[in-house]
Amino acid sequence: MTESLLDNRIEPITSPDDEIRDAVAGANLASFLPALLPALAHATGDDSLLVEALVPDGELIRDESAGLTLEQQAEIRRIAADVLIDLRDGRRSFVDDATKSAAGANRLQRLMSHATGVEIHGDYVGLMREELSVTGDDLRAPQWRADELAPGRSFPVVVIGAGMSGILAGHRLKQAGVDFVIYEKNTDVGGTWLENTYPGCRVDVSNHVYSYSFAQRNDWPYYFSPQPELLDYFRTCADEFGVREHIRFEHEVTAMTWSEDDRSWTLELDGPDGDVTHEANAVISAVGQLNRPNMPSISGMEDFAGPSFHSATWDHDVDLAGRDVVVIGAGASAVQFVPHIAEVTNHLSVLQRTPNWFVPVPPYHEPVADGLQWLFRHIPGYAQWYRFWMFWRSSEGLLPACEVDDDWEDTSLATGARNAELRDLLEQWLYLCYADRPDLHDTVRPMYPPASKRIVLDNGSWSTTMKRDDVTLDGTPILRIESDAVITADADGNETRHAADVIIYATGFQASKFLTPMKVVGTGGRDLHDVWDGDARAYLGVVHPGFPNFFLCYGPNTNIVVNGSIIYFSECEVHYALGVIEMLLRDGLASADCRQGVHDAYNERVDEGNLKMAWGVSTVNSWYKAESGRVAQNWPFSLLEYWQQTRTPDPADYHLTS
Ligand code: NAP
Repeated sequence: MTESLLDNRIEPITSPDDEIRDAVAGANLASFLPALLPALAHATGDDSLLVEALVPDGELIRDESAGLTLEQQAEIRRIAADVLIDLRDGRRSFVDDATKSAAGANRLQRLMSHATGVEIHGDYVGLMREELSVTGDDLRAPQWRADELAPGRSFPVVVIGAGMSGILAGHRLKQAGVDFVIYEKNTDVGGTWLENTYPGCRVDVSNHVYSYSFAQRNDWPYYFSPQPELLDYFRTCADEFGVREHIRFEHEVTAMTWSEDDRSWTLELDGPDGDVTHEANAVISAVGQLNRPNMPSISGMEDFAGPSFHSATWDHDVDLAGRDVVVIGAGASAVQFVPHIAEVTNHLSVLQRTPNWFVPVPPYHEPVADGLQWLFRHIPGYAQWYRFWMFWRSSEGLLPACEVDDDWEDTSLATGARNAELRDLLEQWLYLCYADRPDLHDTVRPMYPPASKRIVLDNGSWSTTMKRDDVTLDGTPILRIESDAVITADADGNETRHAADVIIYATGFQASKFLTPMKVVGTGGRDLHDVWDGDARAYLGVVHPGFPNFFLCYGPNTNIVVNGSIIYFSECEVHYALGVIEMLLRDGLASADCRQGVHDAYNERVDEGNLKMAWGVSTVNSWYKAESGRVAQNWPFSLLEYWQQTRTPDPADYHLTS
């Protein structure tokens, strides 16, 4: 039998001393150290390993060394190696999972505070216990079963989409014993990780964090793994959770209509054998939001004679070797594939409308160090503690640097003192990258506050590519497309001709058009797209008044700019949706329809919150905003708050119908 990606087996320690010391020393990133002693303390039950002098600096957790001096780092490595040798020789032993799970809130708080260098507030412990899931327990699993709450009641649910959120929703429904079907337009699971196959596609959130809390993987091959690894992971999850057999592939939901009489949804689908309909008591949309390519409208596009395609629908039949290629757009996707294709093209022109802020992440393309993999294989729970540490590092830490200071006068370049500090830091990186090419400085320097748009991870490969002799970076507007070229023009009208055998559109997605092109008709025959009028809103990003028993994953205002991974949000959203379904089943109710006042008050607060963040005040182009200019994408508050708000639905938020 082949080993599962999710097995996370721990191997006995048999290595000689020098191999153990090499492993601890060979885990090259200092950032792996802060969680090491807490993990060993938790795994062995010996809290004397929490040496006070070896706590990282909570203010410096984004630094690679987390504020630990070289001496402190050496001491952590020495203690860890000694403990591992003792474990091998039987002078110490690991406690069992039950003992580890039984760690009380105070002890967990102590271990977590040691790992992070900050006094972890008691409110966080519940959330972090779930995220840590140190024994592999699924702490967010529904604690109820449909057949116990409502014996004999038929309550079919449809999930739309079998990407990351759809697999998760299916898993939770299955755990609760709810009857469900997942409709997926593609031929396989994976969503964005199935569709985006462009060269260099990889996850840009630490992979140990970008995974389900209840299906962690110890042995991610890279800190930020390439797309095939992610697809493999989601395929494995769909199989092992038993979700795949509930999926009807090649079925696209085109419309869904609520019936007041039946208190159910009728879905219309386009399937391989023609149109079908399906009735359901509740619907969970997990269609994703960055998946409908945004194609620009540029004069002369239709006259182009060569092949052209969008980065999300990469045409692998088009050979780019030795060709002149023009890439339109320079966002997160372009940054990943441009360095790859530049290796083979004859000449590559990158047409950038707005420069990115880049944050240096040296190991962005690196495999996980052998030493670190060794530690993950031999210390029970260490991979989970490492994930916890990475989660904390990337969670609330950067939010204050995105805030608007009330007394900061000019927010065009920075929104406050801490945002200005971040700007300085990121500018230093840019100047370092382009020190030898001052002619590019004006083109690459963002003239907007950092965090107004997504900050892109960088290990230097982008600037190295932009500086190649056979690459042109042009930051002037596109004028028109001709049969064999793209023409740009500067402010004085001077035109530049970029020869093109192939054009690649890296122009992003129609992010603001939530649920497009699906038609959703709720109570009173109201069409959700008419209600939204191009400016989507929802309560908690999940439910909308007038559309009962309908739940959104990755809905309006559930995107994060600097903190965390979108999987965290999906876990909260699905938890909430299941909570409402539980309420319906437990109380014998037919439908739950969010109250307008609750929805409006919530959205008012979110809007106010976003206006206090860089992405809310900046006028730079970004997919975070709807056409109205309102930030329709982002969650402006802490991860903790979203978790707290989505823990348990409040019946008072709903019109409930029997
Ligand atoms: P994007 O960041 O929105 O970038 C689109 C690019 O196209 C921008 O440079 C944009 O310029 C440009 N553009 C759009 N319309 C244009 C037009 N009419 N003329 C000229 N240029 C135009 O899209 P993306 O790169 O596909 O990334 C979208 C999001 O997907 C990211 O922010 C990220 O959240 C996610 N993503 C994640 C990963 C990952 O984890 N592996 C990888 C890729 C993407 P402006 O900046 O001026 O609008």
